[in-house]
Parts: sequence; structure tokens; C-alpha cells
Amino acid sequence: MFVDSHCHLDRLDPRTHGGDIAATLDAARARHVRQFLAIAVTLEGVPELARISREHADVVISAGVHPLHRVEVEPDVEAIKACADRYDAVAIGECGLDYHYLDKHYLDKAPDSVPGREIQRERFRRHLIAATELELPVIVHTREAREETLALIREHTDPAIGGVLHCFTEDLDMAREAVRHGFSISLSGIVTFRNAESIRDVARRVPLDRLLIETDSPYLSPVPHRGKPNEPAWVVEVAECIAQQRGISIEEVAMQTTANFYRLFRAAAPEAPAEIRDALANAGLV
Ligand SMILES: [Zn+2]
Ligand SMILES: [Zn+2]
Repeated sequence: MFVDSHCHLDRLDPRTHGGDIAATLDAARARHVRQFLAIAVTLEGVPELARISREHADVVISAGVHPLHRVEVEPDVEAIKACADRYDAVAIGECGLDYHYLDKHYLDKAPDSVPGREIQRERFRRHLIAATELELPVIVHTREAREETLALIREHTDPAIGGVLHCFTEDLDMAREAVRHGFSISLSGIVTFRNAESIRDVARRVPLDRLLIETDSPYLSPVPHRGKPNEPAWVVEVAECIAQQRGISIEEVAMQTTANFYRLFRAAAPEAPAEIRDALANAGLV
């Protein structure tokens, strides 16, 4: 059984099972994906995620604002906490720093389209504080902001609560540094891309008990589905690639990443399907 630890179920592409969430989840369930974590990119989007979660017992949700999302008024710590609380989020995020689009080339084209460094840093800091106060793990989006991401995490998070660097695209050194601070590393379909040798290095060498798998669907379809909108069913391809890289069975990757998921997202554990709880107990993983 598999967990898709990061999918955007409110952004389904119409080409994916006619844009139908139930059909999309069914396709994943048919491939033994047993749990979905639906990720917020805005606080306004959280009620819709909560609705999806109420309709589907195997969907849990997060609450947070993506670093590249433009908002009228920046939510403060209390607003983030209130939203997570009200809608039973199991994590805070996705939040973080993404400086990729701030380079000059891009700014020449669209100077006002992306929140600047200052805004991103303060927004991220508020999320980290909210997560610590609620004792919830944090889902971190980080791109081309390595030192600042690590510094803010070190300053504001409790390693006993931890979090995840999602859709990880940085190098092994950064992964290890995050792991040292109690974080997990989540790999997406990017690990299957031909030019992603450095990510496969991470897949081979990060401790197996700190690895998660995700699709980040509808983005970033894995090989051999590139060019199509991604969907949670394809988290299996991510697991397969990791198994190959580590020279272990896909069953072991599935069991271990599932156990890791419930260890990190503790609030999701009591709701885990009985089948998963039994399997993890039998394997001595809980
Ligand atoms: Zn992200
Ligand atoms: Zn995402």
C-alpha cells in the first residue's frame, strides 16, 4: 500500500478522469494508494479541501499559503492557526521559500507577479511559528533558497515535531542537514526524470526511515506519463524508482514510506485505514 503525501486534489485537470475527484481517487485506490494528503496553497482554499476530506475518508488535509501565491493581506500566526484548527488540518503548509522566479530574467517580464524575498521570509516564519504552537509538522516548499530555508527551520521548528521538504530538488547535503533537524524528505516524479541524477543520489542515500513519496499532482508527472497531467495513482512510479535505486523491493519502499508518513503526520494516524494499521503492526513498524 502507498500514501500520496502531497497532492492538490482541488486543482485536478479536466483531462484526468474528466476532472472527477472520486474517479481519480478510485484509480489510485486500484493501485493500492490508501491515503492522500491534500495540500493547501491558500487559506481560502482550505474549506474546499475540508469538503473533499469529509466526502473521502482516506483524504486528510493541510492548511497554509504557498510562497508564490499572491494575497491581499498576509495572514498572521493566529489566522493560520485558526484555519488549521477549524478544518482539522494534520499539517501546516505548503509554505516556504521559492526564489527561482525572482531572477532578473523573469522579473523583466513580470515584475509584480511573485512575492519578493522579504514577503516570502515573513510568511514562512509565521507558518513555522503556527506549526510549532499547534505541534503540527510543516510541509516546506523550497527552491533556490537553501541557506535561508535551513536557517528559518533551525530557528523556529522543534525537531521532535519536524516536517518535510516536499518535492525535493536540492542536493544530498541539504537533505542531510534537514534530516539532522528532524525533517523528512519527500520525493516526487522528478526522481524519474532523465536528468535528475542528483535526486536519485538523494533517493539512494537518505535514511529510509526519513523518506516520503508524493505526486504533487497535477504537476510533474513521472516517466512514463510525462506531458500528461499528474494524478495520485502515479505515486507508484515514484516508489518503483526509489526501490530500483536502493536495490530493495517496492513492497519495502511502500511499507517504510507509509510508516514514515504516519510517524510524521501523527494526527492522521488514528484515521488510518485498518488494513494499513494491521500491516504496519505486523511488520513491527508502529
Ligand atoms: Zn511545492
Ligand atoms: Zn504542492
